[in-house]
Amino acid sequence: MEKKQKFYEMGVPERLVQLAVEAGLDEGDLDVLSGKAGLSTDLAERMIENVIGIYALPLGIARNFVVNGREMPVPMVIEEPSVVAAASYMAKLARAGGGFKASASPPEMIGQVQVLDVKDTESAAKALEKQKDAILKAADVDEVLRRLGGGPRELSVRIISEAPAGPFLVLHIVMDVRNAMGANAVNTALEKITPMVEKITGGRALLRILTNLADRRLARASCTIPPEALKTDTFSGEDVRDRIIEASAFAEADTYRAATHNKGIMNGVDAVVIATGNDWRAVEAGAHAYAARGGRYTSLSRWSQAGDAALHGELEMPMAVGTVGGATRVHPTAWIALKMMGVQSARELAEIIVSVGLAQNLGALRALATEGIQQGHMALHARQVAIAAGASPELAEAVAGRMVEEDQVNLDRAREILQERSREK
Ligand code: NAD
Repeated sequence: MEKKQKFYEMGVPERLVQLAVEAGLDEGDLDVLSGKAGLSTDLAERMIENVIGIYALPLGIARNFVVNGREMPVPMVIEEPSVVAAASYMAKLARAGGGFKASASPPEMIGQVQVLDVKDTESAAKALEKQKDAILKAADVDEVLRRLGGGPRELSVRIISEAPAGPFLVLHIVMDVRNAMGANAVNTALEKITPMVEKITGGRALLRILTNLADRRLARASCTIPPEALKTDTFSGEDVRDRIIEASAFAEADTYRAATHNKGIMNGVDAVVIATGNDWRAVEAGAHAYAARGGRYTSLSRWSQAGDAALHGELEMPMAVGTVGGATRVHPTAWIALKMMGVQSARELAEIIVSVGLAQNLGALRALATEGIQQGHMALHARQVAIAAGASPELAEAVAGRMVEEDQVNLDRAREILQERSREK
């Protein structure tokens, strides 16, 4: 029997055909993915200002992801080599333990109104709380959200007494934004309630904007990996598990390490956030603010030994992403990215993204805690260096191979090898 070709062994056209079959993509979708159609300058002109062109990035598919029992191809937009391969490999390991279990809290975003020039902050805060129902009603301006069961949910007030601008109030409005990321929906509601807030407090409303510390909208993923799935040529599965737990302890205790640990998580998170047309700056801001919520910046994930000797990982972070709004339905590729994952809601998308973040984190920890990342990374990086030195796609592999063999991966060496080869001709 002929052996089935693996996805990574296929050429790009074959991968597209395979993906179309798996994810129910049509001819039009494939035209977008292959670059025949897709984001045009005309469309870009309607998205941002002063457009002069389109900036393309590679779109890859992470394989083997099973999230809450469902398997899906995961689109990742990223320029860094080895991220997609690591995500796919780690998802395969997680699969040995049943895949990722993920959940997300309701899609609640928080909006803030800063109220200055208040004579008596204590009584103004009480007055706002007393008028809670009226304020929430006034904030309920989005008919679509209301129809879908979303809208304003809660109100709270904080007093900032020590500030150069004098004491002021901060009003928080919690809004369920359903399948949207929600920034515009929240900001619109806040502007609507401004006159009412000023009247109640006798103060002056200055900033009215959502917070990206979306700590009411958290996504969580966990995975449990049996030791036998973790073993490498040099280390037993138990060894790898223990080394990953030790590496995780480093990130938990030390801010310098935590920043890099979390960057590894964001390698996976951002790639899917970008692929789906979501605002990755918003997700980045939320992630790092959440990592520092206890007053000290720490790691977003935790790795430990489960009762049955397996490796257990958990990741919890804010995940303000939408399946409607923003660029999600405007950018043609983003729309197909959502389609291929078969997600029905922003919540489900958040669950997949946080699972990819956890997989990526495992990939980095596993490599760092065993043979180190450079061996694998440099081989892929060498290809980019070869191309940067002017190698054709056909030559890049050979030039990269030679640089890795010589343990000299740099632009100068790539140029020398290319010159040698052209002299030999
Ligand atoms: P949006 O206004 O484009 O879409 C949301 C709207 O879509 C809702 O208000 C609702 O009226 C409608 N809608 C239709 N179907 C819906 C459904 N099923 N669920 C929810 N809403 C539905 O976008 P948004 O999500 O409010 O805002 C996202 C945009 O705001 C992004 O482009 C982001 O970059 C930008 N933004 C971000 C920040 C920030 O993060 N600090 C600030 C300002 C703007």
